[in-house]
Parts: sequence; structure tokens; C-alpha cells
Amino acid sequence: MSFLKTYEQLSWEGTQESIATKQASDVERALARPAGALTLDDFQALISPAAVPYLENMAQLSHQRTVERFGYTQQFFSPVYLSNVCSNVCTYCGFSALNRIPRKILNDEEIAQELDAVKALGMDHVLFVTGEANRMVGVPYLKKAFAIARERFSSISMEVQPLDQADYETLIEAGLSAVLVYQETYHRASYAEVHLRGMKQNFDYRLETPDRLGRAGIKKIGLGALYGLDDWRADSFFVAAHLRYMEKTYWRSRYSLSFPRIRPHEGDFAPKTVLTDRDLIQIICAYRLLSPEVELSLSTRESEVFRNHAYRLGITTMSAGSKTNPGGYAAEKTSLKQFEISDERSPAELAAMLRQGGYEAVWKDWDATYDGRAVPAEATA
Ligand code: SF4
Repeated sequence: MSFLKTYEQLSWEGTQESIATKQASDVERALARPAGALTLDDFQALISPAAVPYLENMAQLSHQRTVERFGYTQQFFSPVYLSNVCSNVCTYCGFSALNRIPRKILNDEEIAQELDAVKALGMDHVLFVTGEANRMVGVPYLKKAFAIARERFSSISMEVQPLDQADYETLIEAGLSAVLVYQETYHRASYAEVHLRGMKQNFDYRLETPDRLGRAGIKKIGLGALYGLDDWRADSFFVAAHLRYMEKTYWRSRYSLSFPRIRPHEGDFAPKTVLTDRDLIQIICAYRLLSPEVELSLSTRESEVFRNHAYRLGITTMSAGSKTNPGGYAAEKTSLKQFEISDERSPAELAAMLRQGGYEAVWKDWDATYDGRAVPAEATA
């Protein structure tokens, strides 16, 4: 059993039509439901054009439900890019295999340098990111990187190529606690248009990755779509359906959602659709109302102004001080970035802004003691 079966019962066009025909009464019904009682049909109402006049109500309710569950906190993380080598061709990404760029895979010493630099920012949690190159940056390489990270950090997440269940089990044993794997778009034909070569062309294998993670017993799974590849409303709905399926099927795991969007000025890839700031706020609030438990993450792709506004409206996790190139913190600062970040504030500056707003920054995700692991000296200092 996997989400693929559920996915095949859903219709993209039917979803679009259902969202487009929602009325004010549907939105009001969704807003009147108690926390945790919203259906996927309610979610469609909340992301529909009919909900736009209710955005302020949605934002207030989303804020309230987030504070009830998470308090006045924002969890911080910094991505550490281990490699920009990739065997896939994705038309929207600078790391794409056909791009003639200098390739870099960090060695042990460079990984340690990067991790020390991130630790010095105050972080006690790290997100490893790579291109998708299973032969060169596969499980043995990742295990070595985890061993270096475990000496320094309480928890380790990763955003790398989808793997088999046995590989995830091996990496969980090595210290992995969360995996982010975005479907990019749930529209099969649009997916095929932008993924031209490599393993990533296998839509179904990617779609079933969260199932393999759930079966492997991972603590947290990150889902999402890359906004700009197809209709943002339909993609948001499919993410919501995926989330609902996962929450019910693998209820021991926690979940997070991210909202990366391709902006028209990034590279020469022209997005099919544009997700405006207002649209993004609408999606964030709708997800919060659908799921009181899900973590909602806003990265440094977004501008300082937008993040200052949006963090109160449902967001629980923010990246800070991010570098999107391998070695970007210390080892090789000039290597090619996957994308330009917009919010360049340091974690300390972001924490100060949050403090002024009555929020507290949380610098770790999961404490090693919960796993029965020895606590790294730095984590208790
Ligand atoms: S999006 Fe990921 S898989 Fe595609 S080219 Fe970029 S790094 Fe490789």
C-alpha cells in the first residue's frame, strides 16, 4: 500500500474545478470547524478564490492555532550543502547535470569545517543537502558525514535523493531524524516536462518515498511542492491530500511542509505560474487550519520583509544564515549556489527580531537523549 493508490483516485482537473467553484458559504463552514476537524474539501475552500476576502480571518485563526500548539517559538535550522554533483536534469535548477559548472563534493575535513561554522552560529540541528548522485554521494558517504555531525549536533535532517527503505533504516541507525522530499509538482505531465534525465524522472518512486520513510520509522518527514511548475492551488491540494494520508497511515512520524517558489527572475527558467505573496499567505493559513500539528517552514528564499510579516501566521520553522553552495560557510565560499537567498540576516539578527515580537528562537529540533544516545559535550555547554 502507498499514497500512489490514493493519488490515482484523484483527478487534477476535477480538483481544479472543485476549488474554482467553492462559495463563501464553504469558506465560512471551514472556518467554523474546531481545530483538527477540517476535511480536504474544507481545505479546497480555504485555498479557493472565494476565500480571498476571508484572508484576515484565516490569518488570525491560523496564528491562534499555531500558538496553542507551538507557543511563541520559531525553530531555526541552517542547510549544509555537501555536494552540487547531480545526475538529474531538472530544467529549473543550477545543479542540473547538463550545466557546465565546477562540481564539488566536500571531504571529511571540509564537512567538519562547515559544521563547526554552523555550530558557531548557535545551531544545534543541521540539514544536509546534496544534489542527487547516488553513486558518488550515496549511503556510505552520508554515513560518514553523519558520524562527523553526530559529534557536534543533537539532530540531523537531510534533503538528498530518494532512497530505498533499507537505506533509510541504515541512516536512521546512523543518526538521521528527518528527511525532506518534495514532489515538485503532482501534475504528471508537467513533472515530465521539467525532469528530463536521471532517476528523478521516475515520478512514482519519488511519490512513494514518504511511504518508505514512514515504514522505516523516521521521526519527521517533510513534504511540499515547488511553486511555479503548475497550478498552485491544485498542487497545494495534492500536498494536503498527501499530508492527510501520511498523518493517518504513519501516525508515529511528525510532518513538515515547505513552500519553495520559483521566482521569474531566477535563472532563465520561466515559471508557468506565479505564486504571489498573498497567495502564499493563503496557503500557509489553509495548511495550519487543516493540520494543527504540522510544522510549517519558511526559508531564506523569501525576503526579509515577507518573513517579518509571515512568521506569525502559522510558520513554526525558519532557516537562518543559509548558504546554498557546498562549502559556503567556511570550506569553499565561492562555489556555485543552488539558488540566491533573499533574507541575508544572520541567525542572531533573526533571533533578535523575533524577540522583539515576543517570540523565542529554538536552536535544536530533537534532543539526542530521547534516542538514548550520549549527549554531545557541545549540546550541554
Ligand atoms: S533540483 Fe535536485 S535533482 Fe534536480 S538538478 Fe537540482 S539538485 Fe539535481
